[in-house]
Amino acid sequence: MEIIHTPREMTAWANRTRAAAETIALVPTMGAFHDGHLALMRAAAQRADRLVVSLFVNPIQFGASEDLDRYPRNLKRDAELAAAQGTDILFAPAAEAMYPRGFATKVGVAGLTDTLCGASRPGHFDGVTTVVAKLFNLVKPQVAVFGEKDFQQLAVIRRMVADLAWDIDVVGHPIVREADGLAMSSRNVYLAPEERQAALGLSRALAHARQRVAAGETDTERLLAGVRQALLARPGVTIDYLSVVHGQSLVAQERIDADSVLLVAALVGTTRLIDNTPLP
Ligand code: AMP
Repeated sequence: MEIIHTPREMTAWANRTRAAAETIALVPTMGAFHDGHLALMRAAAQRADRLVVSLFVNPIQFGASEDLDRYPRNLKRDAELAAAQGTDILFAPAAEAMYPRGFATKVGVAGLTDTLCGASRPGHFDGVTTVVAKLFNLVKPQVAVFGEKDFQQLAVIRRMVADLAWDIDVVGHPIVREADGLAMSSRNVYLAPEERQAALGLSRALAHARQRVAAGETDTERLLAGVRQALLARPGVTIDYLSVVHGQSLVAQERIDADSVLLVAALVGTTRLIDNTPLP
């Protein structure tokens, strides 16, 4: 595996690879790899001749009061883990290389970004779509793999790729969880032991909701009342949003149907966690 730090070298590699008629898969990440990231890499490696993993803690997708400065970083460990999954190129640019002096362009998706995480984190998705657009142009992938953990992000990126007519197959990968159900996240390292326990409330509440829907519940309000109660029973948990939406449009639904997805964002102590589940 080679580590590339500059956009210019990344483009040169992509051009050479394309000229050799080899296909490219991209997994964009912010590093601090866990098994969720590694599963995405393995899935992406199967879908193209060459695998590029980008590792970039993207400053423009963090709000002023968010955790940009303390976000976990460990390039050496991440490089070893990425190499072990069959990564050809780890693209790890500096912020100044991605956003040089004078950088003034923003790529934004309207509508889908108004709700859920978009409502709680103003500007977040513009930061995501701007960096992903730039990564697509530098890496020139035919395939890009994203986790369903960031369900809204995946919907927003699918919209951007369709609207801008990029010839890229956007693949969603199911959420990878700890043995006890907690969705893996680079932010889980922030959790103190008692918070780690409280954080389990998210996946437990979603699993319980799934059971209730399987047993015939179709009323969103009734379902969410139960989920809310279960979440708030955990110490130190505050709910940011709890919502049943249509899986493609992200429009809130009063009645649960085959397209419904239940999404939650909550603070456990000061750590913001998200999770979601399709409702059968
Ligand atoms: P991040 O480094 O947190 O920006 O995540 C990079 C990619 O990994 C995104 O597409 C995430 O959706 C995905 N991802 C993060 N955690 C998980 C998980 N537990 N399961 C599946 N995908 C994940």
